[in-house]
Amino acid sequence: MLAQPVPVQRGESTQAEVPVSPYRSHPLPVMASSESPALRFEVIARCSTTKARVSKLHLPHYTADTPMFMPVGTQGTIKGLTTDQLRDLDCHVILGNTYHLGNRPGPEILDQFGGLHQFMNWDRGLLTDSGGFQMVSLLKLAEITEEGVQFEHPHDGSLMMLTPEKSMELQNSIGADIMMQLDDVVSSLTTGPRVEEAMHRSIRWLDRCIKAHRKPHQQNLFPIIQGGLDLTLRKACLEAMIARNAPGYAIGGLSGGEEKDQFWRIVSLCTDYLPEPKPRYCMGVGYAEDLVVCSALGVDMYDCVYPTRTARFGHALTRSGGITLKYGRYHTDYSPIEDDCNCHTCRNYTRAHLATLVNKETVGCHLISIHNIAYQMRLMRDIRSSIMEDRFPQFVQSFMKRYFVDNGTPYPEWVVNALNSVNISLLPPENAASQT
Ligand SMILES: [Zn+2]
Repeated sequence: MLAQPVPVQRGESTQAEVPVSPYRSHPLPVMASSESPALRFEVIARCSTTKARVSKLHLPHYTADTPMFMPVGTQGTIKGLTTDQLRDLDCHVILGNTYHLGNRPGPEILDQFGGLHQFMNWDRGLLTDSGGFQMVSLLKLAEITEEGVQFEHPHDGSLMMLTPEKSMELQNSIGADIMMQLDDVVSSLTTGPRVEEAMHRSIRWLDRCIKAHRKPHQQNLFPIIQGGLDLTLRKACLEAMIARNAPGYAIGGLSGGEEKDQFWRIVSLCTDYLPEPKPRYCMGVGYAEDLVVCSALGVDMYDCVYPTRTARFGHALTRSGGITLKYGRYHTDYSPIEDDCNCHTCRNYTRAHLATLVNKETVGCHLISIHNIAYQMRLMRDIRSSIMEDRFPQFVQSFMKRYFVDNGTPYPEWVVNALNSVNISLLPPENAASQT
């Protein structure tokens, strides 16, 4: 497809070995594995019905269990939560925000500290974005050229150019376990030649990122599969990026308002093509039903601002769907957000108490954020344990029934279609018994 030679990231896939898994006290056979200089990925269980799997993702700072959800932080901390709380909440990998970190504390201070891990006192996994996405949302996009993305500051009109090389320089200073390539992002609603141009440019920028990456033995660079909603373009991008032999891959350009039936088909195409023994990260996914469906399709990693952003509006996540605590009926509800949640918030606060704090005190947002992150982490643990015990289809059926039908909402058609594609039929509402 491309005339120039293909730069290949160092490291080759290795044959399976049999390490001792912390999951069980006896050795578990590794079903597939890959090894890169700064990452080892081991698939330790597969669902016998769907494409779901459980893996150990060995990163320089931490060994994470997948499928996993990664909360999004801003300026080195999750909004309102401390690193101690994130550890207590069982977060394995969190996201740092390259644009914000590049401004403050900035590369010089980060280099002095030896990276963000030390700076923010976080000893587990970190992932950073390329910086491009935040710049699109915060600055005025001036122009995308082959050189990079040019932005205009909304206040003084000054120009700033983010190139693949600049993105790698910033991310190498931050020192995250996983870094994302700078990609040429188009909205998932864009159609026509611009989608193809962005896909090819993302491949060229990936090659520049690989070349500019100063620490391949300490940090992993993930390509981002682009190609919009066009299956042919997605396949071409997959083929080109897989040839670069990256330690893991991200599926990008989704969750931008496209039809969910198109969303899951692109995810499924990507998981069909991506190498089995490497981690697959679906960017911007964080709704509970999306996490369950995408895990069934074989995705390993997710991130989303949703759980903490929605907490700011007094919205708490539960297994029976969300509840908005500012509504009057919760002012006399003396139960916790969820009876069987053992997070700090549910152990110490009633819905009634939280309802008085919502929208008035930052502590209200903080307490609901704690619960919402705990909810996401528990959901991912439930997904993993059900795959380990090969009862994932039953877990999905009871999860969806409780989340939708028991809550008076019919199953969304895209959820039914996506799960059918991996041999799960949802329980008919009238004769399904609720299970846990
Ligand atoms: Zn809770």
